[in-house]
Amino acid sequence: MKRRSILKKAKRVRILDLVREMGESSRGEIAREFSLDKKAVSLAVDGLLEEGILAVSGYRTSRAGRRRELLSINGRHGISIGIDLGATHVIGVLSDLAGVVLERAFFEVRPGLPMEIILEQMKTIAARLLSSGRAASRVRAVGVCVPGFIKPGEGISLIAENIAGWRDVRIRELFETEFREPVYVDDSSRAFAAAERWLGHGRGQKDFIALDLGYGIGLGIFSAGAPLMGADWRSGEIGHTVVNPDGMPCACGNRGCLETVASGKAIARQAAEGIRAGKSPLLRDLTHGDADAVTAQDVAMAATMADAFSIEVIRAAGVAVGLALANAANILAPSLVVLGGGLVSAGSTLTDTIKEAFHRNCMPGIREQARIAVSALGADASARGIALQALEIVFAGA
Ligand SMILES: [Zn+2]
Repeated sequence: MKRRSILKKAKRVRILDLVREMGESSRGEIAREFSLDKKAVSLAVDGLLEEGILAVSGYRTSRAGRRRELLSINGRHGISIGIDLGATHVIGVLSDLAGVVLERAFFEVRPGLPMEIILEQMKTIAARLLSSGRAASRVRAVGVCVPGFIKPGEGISLIAENIAGWRDVRIRELFETEFREPVYVDDSSRAFAAAERWLGHGRGQKDFIALDLGYGIGLGIFSAGAPLMGADWRSGEIGHTVVNPDGMPCACGNRGCLETVASGKAIARQAAEGIRAGKSPLLRDLTHGDADAVTAQDVAMAATMADAFSIEVIRAAGVAVGLALANAANILAPSLVVLGGGLVSAGSTLTDTIKEAFHRNCMPGIREQARIAVSALGADASARGIALQALEIVFAGA
């Protein structure tokens, strides 16, 4: 691609980002954000209006009495599919360009399920959303997010530590062959951070980190208003920062990673041991005596019911997460830390402990500026984020 068209594409992406983030913007506000290049910005806005990607949604009268048009994203202009694969779920959403969810589909993944079956389920969910009445023929892109390392240029998922046998999966190729739409692949935690940036607490924040705390643990990072990818898009592996060098072996091959203490997988493992050792009659009852069936959600629930063993496990997880986040914040100096993922919705014991440990360990001068917020986007956050990422790239392309 020629340099000029790359710059043009980057400008369109930034304008779309800004308008989505603000909800509504005037041309003046957009131009202020791009103060060096007002004329080119105005031309790009005209182009986006002509194509129907932006729309005039109202007018505002300035103090000087001038009437200014307000621009917003035209959600109906295009829709996309977002598929989020986690260790315990496949979540699919049909999203419009403004981020409104039109349809949703869910499939539960049991640990150990063969890769082929998981892929089939991902495709089935995408096909179901594509054929739904709400989709009509307006689907323009498919976004797929997976945990772990990916090969960005080719849309290959290299490895997902928490999904047995998941190696070198050619997601873009498989989905483009099947659905004949542009396919965009990224890591789930980065997709979660993108959702927060456009739809959640991250609106208007240029430097923030978003913790995705579920069966595994990842971190999405925005720095100076842009996602921080790292070399080969491998940034954000907070789950594999070491919190105890003599700790348990981790799926990555090292010892004592945060994921060995605080992930959904680690919490469930500790709970199973606790049930077998007779430390929690409540957890034993909740799982009908089947220690191997216990989940981190059960432990979180037992903690809200004042089960001492579960509170201890959840607090230990929270202390480790808060410590790792404080270390990350000391390096990145975010103005906001968003806590998200399946575990944070499971009661305040965990989030309160994370906040305490974060404040205790973060450097003075950095901790005061880093506000902590719990995500309000729920389980669909990563799917919504990847759907918008995919659509944005298609619409920015012209
Ligand atoms: Zn590890």
